[in-house]
Amino acid sequence: MTPQTPAYPHLFNPLKVGRQTLPNRILMGSMHTGLEEQGVEGLARLAAFYAERARGGCSLMVTGGFSPNSEGRLGSEGGYLVDEDAEHHQQVTEAVHRDGSRILLQLLHAGRYGYHTDIVAPSAIRAPINKNTPREMDEDDIQRTIADYARAAQIAQAAGYDGVELMGSEGYLINQFTAPRTNKRTDRWGGSFENRARFPVQVIKAVRAATDPQFIIMYRLSVLDIVEDGSPFEEVAQLARLAEAAGADVLNSGIGWHEARIPTIAQAVPRAGWTWATKKLMGTVSIPLIATNRINTPETAEQVIADGDADMVSMARPFLADAGFADKARHGTPEQINTCIACNQACLDHYFKGKDATCLVNPRACRETMLTWKVAEQARKIAIVGAGVAGLSCAVTAAERGHDVTLFEAAGQIGGQFLLARHIPGKEEFNETLRYYRNRAEAFGVSVKLNTRADAAALAGFDEVVMATGVKPRVPDIDGIDHPCVMTYEDLLSGAREPGKRVAVIGAGGVGVDVAVHLVERGLSSHLDPAQFRATWGVAEDAADHEPAHDVVLLQRSTGKMGSGPGKTTGWVHRLVLLRANTEMIADVSYRRIDDDGLHISVGGKDRLIECDSIVLCAGQLSVNALADELKADDRPVHVIGGASFAGELDAQRAIEEGTLLGARL
Ligand code: NAP
Ligand code: SF4
Repeated sequence: MTPQTPAYPHLFNPLKVGRQTLPNRILMGSMHTGLEEQGVEGLARLAAFYAERARGGCSLMVTGGFSPNSEGRLGSEGGYLVDEDAEHHQQVTEAVHRDGSRILLQLLHAGRYGYHTDIVAPSAIRAPINKNTPREMDEDDIQRTIADYARAAQIAQAAGYDGVELMGSEGYLINQFTAPRTNKRTDRWGGSFENRARFPVQVIKAVRAATDPQFIIMYRLSVLDIVEDGSPFEEVAQLARLAEAAGADVLNSGIGWHEARIPTIAQAVPRAGWTWATKKLMGTVSIPLIATNRINTPETAEQVIADGDADMVSMARPFLADAGFADKARHGTPEQINTCIACNQACLDHYFKGKDATCLVNPRACRETMLTWKVAEQARKIAIVGAGVAGLSCAVTAAERGHDVTLFEAAGQIGGQFLLARHIPGKEEFNETLRYYRNRAEAFGVSVKLNTRADAAALAGFDEVVMATGVKPRVPDIDGIDHPCVMTYEDLLSGAREPGKRVAVIGAGGVGVDVAVHLVERGLSSHLDPAQFRATWGVAEDAADHEPAHDVVLLQRSTGKMGSGPGKTTGWVHRLVLLRANTEMIADVSYRRIDDDGLHISVGGKDRLIECDSIVLCAGQLSVNALADELKADDRPVHVIGGASFAGELDAQRAIEEGTLLGARL
């Protein structure tokens, strides 16, 4: 019998890191969840979160950031390590070790990025993304902070962690020392490269001296700062060598400071779109190098290693999306993976809004102790109408619990609004979510009836009926709305209608911004092709301007900033894309009429004509719930979820969460 070749031979090839041998080259990278700031209770939830990933085959993971001291906290409620924490953190390390996995604690001193008033930095220069100015550290502060790193690493070791990751990138304190942008000191900690590198080198040395030799020290190196006056590549390479000499066992990559204005992890970034930067460092050091950012499938990860871009890959968000990612890859069943779609909506956006992180495609993430479901006591016949993501998530959860589920869909394929959204640049990733649901539905025996418009008669005989019939575009009451130049976003994105060169978009909510981006980026594949991404965003020498496919005017009735859409951490990317394409954005608009000349509006009391060939309606949605109303009128019990229940502010996160929660309790 010939031994079977693993599906991803490079990925599942053991790797020596320091004195430890890892069974594979997958790292679950650090993801700050907000639970780090919630004391012992937060740690209990983190223990369950990491344990589930360990059970899913993840063999090495890094926690969210914990500061070595009070000044380095991320926010006023932020956590920093004190001696008693060793005992509290044991629940995390024990939970992970139970399944034979390893876990490192991330030590993150925020420096000038801390959102509180007691912040420090090498120089008193305010970050553009913070309203507070840091206090310049004096010699005592620096020595004390280095000692705090060493003490924090000892606490981590006493807690049972297998090592620490020293956060030296993304513009946090260590990075603030290394880059001329933020280090204007004239003493031995600033000026020359050797002086600016002194702080990270001393931190690594202090941590090495304070911990056992087998304790892993991972240093997160800012491979690219992507800010003005950041470190040039030669200095990055030199720092890598110094970090190794100081005692680091492995180097992880950091790409871009938080204040950088080039996307690093958003949907605008192609898969593995930044691994070329890590590749430039390969051969510089003899310790392993880890590549990161937008690696979300085993195929991509395997390719990164096979191409020699890195020795290991780090994925953070993909492990929120699917706790079983590693085992599914190891068993050669990537089609069963719930893939991270890089939306940031429920992870980073939540954290920056002060909410616990979770995941849009996996509402259980970070709620492992709260959102659990058991096999149903009695299997029942359940009908679900509508195979958008609300209906799909409900169907697979109910079927997983043992119910007999029939899913009716009027269209010829599953997906609902995702079938439209996947035409937006970067949202091709939605295809992965549909692939996941399709396979999951098949695995749990959901009977999917496509091209079948359910009616009251077809729903007779079911124990439970769930209406997930979704939404339809709102058509606003504007004089001339029937003009042939008018189309809905559904007409446009489904390909049913072709727009002319000059397009007015009515409505600048999430869909309006998406549609505008879709129009200006037509024919451009920078979100799919790393070389084109670099050219488009000015990362490469051969940066090129792209002629937008359409001239777009984006309009809204309300006042206020336009063009960002709903994403807190991604909205600036959309706005930048639109501004670079010279998209005109007009707020405070009254729509007067539509005729052969175009769209007549008034702005601030002044009439204006928007000359255009096409008008796309992105004016929100209305629920599709006639059948639900009919059943209710007949006193038939019915559950209504997603857009069919309430169209306003519906997004994929709410739809999937509602569907999952209902499926868990039926
Ligand atoms: P929306 O965000 O509610 O925006 C609807 C837009 O239509 C608004 O700009 C509104 O602004 C305008 N409007 C409403 N009624 C109108 C009328 N009668 N006449 C003219 N204009 C009217 O809805 P959406 O853009 O359809 O998005 C739906 C949901 O999907 C939202 O919850 C959104 O957050 C979500 N979404 C999320 C993403 C994402 O990437 N996370 C992307 C797309 C959509 P004015 O009243 O000011 O004109
Ligand atoms: Fe990925 Fe979106 Fe989930 Fe975050 S919320 S982990 S970006 S799918």
